[in-house]
Amino acid sequence: MGSVVLSLDAELGWGFHDQESPPTDRVERARAGWKRLIDCFEEAAVPATWAIVGHLFLDDCDGEHASHPASGDWFAAERGRWRSRLDLRFGEGLIERIEGSPIAHEIGSHSFSHVVFGDADTTRTLAAAEIDASVELARERGVSLSSFVYPRNRVGHRDTLAEGGFVCYRGRAPARGLDDFAGGRPLRKLAEATIDAPPLVRPRYDEFGLVNVPASLYLFGFEGLGRSIAESVWDDPVVRAAKRGIDAAAEANGSENEVFHMWLHPNNLVTPRDVRRVRRILAYLDAQRTAGRVSVETMTEVAARTDRVR
Ligand SMILES: [Zn+2]
Ligand SMILES: [Zn+2]
Repeated sequence: MGSVVLSLDAELGWGFHDQESPPTDRVERARAGWKRLIDCFEEAAVPATWAIVGHLFLDDCDGEHASHPASGDWFAAERGRWRSRLDLRFGEGLIERIEGSPIAHEIGSHSFSHVVFGDADTTRTLAAAEIDASVELARERGVSLSSFVYPRNRVGHRDTLAEGGFVCYRGRAPARGLDDFAGGRPLRKLAEATIDAPPLVRPRYDEFGLVNVPASLYLFGFEGLGRSIAESVWDDPVVRAAKRGIDAAAEANGSENEVFHMWLHPNNLVTPRDVRRVRRILAYLDAQRTAGRVSVETMTEVAARTDRVR
């Protein structure tokens, strides 16, 4: 029996503050999606790892962050277009919702201000400042961070995570071997969602003593027209893919430490059909767990039972 992990990139406006034209629908639904997701997890009694942008732990700020080593305009959105959008800049009760849930969620980190660690321009000093600020703000709330999700999945400066006391991070999903798929990108995404079972992953210690818990499947990587066509012809292809992944975890040999790791953003829950997708996947997961076929774990729980010598 393998296990299933769900991780969330919880960021409100911070996932898009450096973009000139952010996706308005996702930004505006970010808070509602966050609350809806908490309800969905309660309904299925499924715990998740919430990787939260550290700035959301603040109640207010000057928009300057003078002691932060990011370049001058990094916090420009806070001082400009989102100056009055406190709802996009601060958590304002959303972290309390997670803490107040009867489900034992894990609170992890998604950096302090969504700096892309894997960018060539991101210095070690900047990465370390992001880690330190996140750890400190969480500590002030009595939260000890141990899981990290890299902004835009761009892994980098892993040594700063280890120094900050983190135990694990979400690594990139393994290549699917469909890169040469003849139909190009939209068709390849369709193929990934419908033909292949998404991969099980094997958490591993890295050279920094951190456990890499790679992703298996992004639940909202297949959107737009392709999704509409696929849903009109078949079932929601992502629900099918997620079920196949859960089934693969159920059939896994327990000694191999194989995990099915799904992820999404709370701001992916924009329309009722997005919510329906998540609820169907969680209901299936709940049923398989109740039948004793899979376990559900947080990233840190997976890391804790990963064998150091492997
Ligand atoms: Zn700020
Ligand atoms: Zn993000």
